[in-house]
Amino acid sequence: MKQVNDYFGCLVFNDKVMKSKLSTDVYKKLKKTINDGKELDISVANAVALAMKDWAIENGATHYTHWFQPMTGVTAEKHDSFISPDGDGIIMEFKGKELIKGEPDASSFPSGGLRATCEARGYTAWDPTSYAFIKDKCLCIPTAFCSYDGQALDKKTPLLRSMQALNKQAMRVLKLFGQDQVTSVKTTVGPEQEYFLVDKDMYEKRKDLIFTGRTLFGAKSPKGQELEDHYFGSIKPRVQEFMNDLNEELWKLGILAKTEHNEVAPAQHELAPIFATTNIAADHNQITMEMMQKIAKKHNLVCLLHEKPFKGVNGSGKHNNWSISTNTGVNLLEPGDTPSENAQFLLFLVSVIKAVDEYQDLLRISVASASNDFRLGANEAPPAIISIFLGSDLQDVIESIETGKALKSNGKTFLKIGADVLPPLPKDTTDRNRTSPFAFTGNKFEFRALGSQESISCANIMLNTAVAEELKQFADRLEKAKDFNIELHELIKETIINHKRIIFNGNGYDDNWVKEAQKRGLLNLKSTPEALPYYLKDKNVKLFTSHSIYSVEEIHARYEIAQEHYSKVVNIEALTCLDMLNKDYLPAISKYTKSLAETVALKNSLNVTSDYEKAILDKVSLDLVVAYNKKVELENALKKASTISDVEKLSMYYKTDILTLMEDVRSVIDEIETNVDGMAWPVPSYAELLYSVK
Ligand code: ADP
Ligand code: MG
Repeated sequence: MKQVNDYFGCLVFNDKVMKSKLSTDVYKKLKKTINDGKELDISVANAVALAMKDWAIENGATHYTHWFQPMTGVTAEKHDSFISPDGDGIIMEFKGKELIKGEPDASSFPSGGLRATCEARGYTAWDPTSYAFIKDKCLCIPTAFCSYDGQALDKKTPLLRSMQALNKQAMRVLKLFGQDQVTSVKTTVGPEQEYFLVDKDMYEKRKDLIFTGRTLFGAKSPKGQELEDHYFGSIKPRVQEFMNDLNEELWKLGILAKTEHNEVAPAQHELAPIFATTNIAADHNQITMEMMQKIAKKHNLVCLLHEKPFKGVNGSGKHNNWSISTNTGVNLLEPGDTPSENAQFLLFLVSVIKAVDEYQDLLRISVASASNDFRLGANEAPPAIISIFLGSDLQDVIESIETGKALKSNGKTFLKIGADVLPPLPKDTTDRNRTSPFAFTGNKFEFRALGSQESISCANIMLNTAVAEELKQFADRLEKAKDFNIELHELIKETIINHKRIIFNGNGYDDNWVKEAQKRGLLNLKSTPEALPYYLKDKNVKLFTSHSIYSVEEIHARYEIAQEHYSKVVNIEALTCLDMLNKDYLPAISKYTKSLAETVALKNSLNVTSDYEKAILDKVSLDLVVAYNKKVELENALKKASTISDVEKLSMYYKTDILTLMEDVRSVIDEIETNVDGMAWPVPSYAELLYSVK
């Protein structure tokens, strides 16, 4: 039996490997780059590249690639082999300059107009804080991807910038608390990943799943999730085999896959890793999603990462557990044991509260996509309204600070920040409020609105940057304070008073919350086209530019890409919908009515009653006409879409007109499905898709 200990991280060029393969001098210099972001000089890069290549070849690699995350949302790689001619043979080569910089042709990646077409070149630059790894015989080097004049064309660059911004401001705050031993601060993330598994043979019969990742049609199965018997239920053998294989591959890649279980919907599952530094967590989550899909195929399964593959049962999300940690291992969102630690905790806590309130729109945008629109606010996922859940214990603390009334709890009195110790706050282990989009869970926040297939980068860029901005404002004020403790108390109290509207501890699925949130002036951006324009608000542009996360051009580029992406996704869905109607559904239904008609005629000729066949024939024939008319309407609406050039108007048109027509035609086809002989139906049903994996 192989033991996990023996192979964990065996495909990663990690610290242990670096130590053993590099000279002490080179190792130290590389560590300096990793820890302090110091630039790597070429002689060190050459030594690292040589060691990396030898290690990779020993472990079966023949190629290397700069592995990056363009704005498509998936990862990109272009493999180069190590071979280089040498007389009649070859030698295996890999140089420092190839390690630190690559030049993929950038012209076919979305750039939102950042890259003039005449300047197709982009470059990739090694992110030495994320370890290189071997995947499919290829040494993958995690890299950032930029245009030649330094504009970010990817999701990693701004994420790293946002971590730097937060580091800078958090360090200023920590200095004020006398934390001189701390030299850097990083955010940490543990993303819980939900997914569906379906049988590959069935999947291949569904063009909608193949082209769009979700079912565009499908009548409800007689059994859905109403018995709540799937959540945490025992895992079926075929699924367990998949999970075992997946864990093994992830562990080899040094990914801390920890928890696996069945989720709420039939055929739905979840994997949660142990948290890591944010950029590493983002890389690992991308690899995890890729591995899930690859390994599923080996089991004749398909892993669906779409946010809403099936109507009528829960969709999939990703919970982004987020905190801030010092290099000395202190979690800054963990209440401490001393009055001073508690004061520091409360300051970081209110910085998050203020950030979430002031930048609700950006957090909403960070989880906005055509696919995630089907979940948010659909009583299965947090509402589209962003709010914070603190839990009753922390709520009491906040209220006591706000009102100046002493809080007595667990034998402790809490009144004065910086003088009293907080009563112990229980860690949330039971997911007490699943309806909140942004919940404090004892020593971290859980941002629950993320979609399952999205990169976690965007959400964390927004979060890190917004919190950096609040910490900056706090540091500016506290650095000037005459009496630190008095000013600190005032600052925390003021922040609570000014931003408590964002705190909501009740049921986020309740309709009353929508009214209440409106009264509080909170945003309720129900769909992607409604949310995206907020990207360009002055306050947001100022936030990003002042912390050097995005230039004005980069913001506009990202905005355009997101708008266009939304329209393209819905367009593909609409075309798939028409294709299935024209090639599968309408002909199959017509054929079925023909057989019914023949039966009716035959029975009538024999003087046998044909009431059943006649009734179904009538109903299905009528519905078929409705479906056909809707199909024609959809075709015409799509023609109109091609005449709209404004990105904002176009995405809105896809949402209001195209998606509505698709839903209309779906409801007719689904109604027909419930009345038609299963053998005559052209595609696998929901029941088959959701229940066939044993
Ligand atoms: P539970 O909510 O069941 O108590 P945990 O809190 O242990 O579970 O973890 C849920 C997820 O949150 C896991 O992915 C875990 O690694 C992550 N997590 C725990 N602590 C932190 C932290 N300080 N920063 C970021 N993520 C964290
Ligand atoms: Mg979960």
